Amino acid sequence: MENNVHNTIIHTEPPPFIRVSGSHREIGRQIGEAFKKQVQHSIESAHAIIDGTYKELELTWEGARIQARKYVPFAQERYPQYIEELLGIAEGAQVSFDDLGVLNSMEAVTMDALHLAKCTSFAVNEYLTADGHVLVAHNEDWLPEDEEDVFIVHVSSDDEPPFLAMTYGGLLPNIGLNAAGIAQCCNSVYPNDSRIGIPRVIVSRAVLGARTPAEAIRCMIVPHRAAGYNHLLAHESGELYNVEVSARQFALLYGKDGFVVHTNHYLDFNMQKIEADPEELIGSQGRYFRALRLLTRTSQHTIKTLQTIQRDHINYPNSICNHAVEDIYPLDREKTINSIIMDLTSRIMYIAWGNPCENHYHDFYLDE
Ligand SMILES: [Zn+2]
Repeated sequence: MENNVHNTIIHTEPPPFIRVSGSHREIGRQIGEAFKKQVQHSIESAHAIIDGTYKELELTWEGARIQARKYVPFAQERYPQYIEELLGIAEGAQVSFDDLGVLNSMEAVTMDALHLAKCTSFAVNEYLTADGHVLVAHNEDWLPEDEEDVFIVHVSSDDEPPFLAMTYGGLLPNIGLNAAGIAQCCNSVYPNDSRIGIPRVIVSRAVLGARTPAEAIRCMIVPHRAAGYNHLLAHESGELYNVEVSARQFALLYGKDGFVVHTNHYLDFNMQKIEADPEELIGSQGRYFRALRLLTRTSQHTIKTLQTIQRDHINYPNSICNHAVEDIYPLDREKTINSIIMDLTSRIMYIAWGNPCENHYHDFYLDE
């Protein structure tokens, strides 16, 4: 691996974990209290990014707060329960709701100038696993500063199936699996039809409350959404989808051969027509093809074979496992901050905190 390992933090402990339950407000408050340090640090990091890129974005932190406030009424109307969760986090972590609002609509308020495009997700069902399990994998690539703010939550709310999810700092959780047998991973995509509406993070948080794949997809394409992600959706029955979403359009890509792969560019022809700057996404295309080839060379996948794919460094630093390269423009700087495999059949989440090539995977269990 020659000189590939820049800025690689070795975590000797598993990521922090909390079990929370109750109303959405109470859940938020428990998360905020337990992870006050992480929530506060993530706000400081976002603040520093906005300050450090004033020349390009001409956005102040106060300006970002004003922008973020415009999105709140759309979320409040459709999903008041998740605004309650954010209010709870703000109370528990003793931060302002407006600052959390910026974090949870960061991609929108920076007009997607934060070109974070290195997440890789894939899944295989019983056709392609040695033990017949349904396995879902995701490398989360984000700002290096947020790596220390990663944690795991086990959430049992009054009105949703319990779920187990990874998140960091003050972001609502959206990558995880629930007791209805649904798992979701999110990948940033770059449509040109974004608008003020329900922020992507809140749309994807709602998916973790879904009880069927159809209900999950309806959440992803909720009216008045601000933009969209690719949502990799897996069900314990082996149903696999990529749901590519923009503010006004969507496409369903079905894993008919027992697998799905996604990175950060649209795969559907009609969605490609509204992709902003496709030439910026060549790195994403390379990662997609690499993951596709590695995933389709065996029909006997295990947790270990998927972990091997997650540690791949081909095309570095546009590789599946990505390390932050020094002296890169702040808005483009990112690394793999954790690597997850979800076994939907056994309801276990395996997570390597930091780069999976250097850190061990730890297991967390979803209870009913
Ligand atoms: Zn690596």
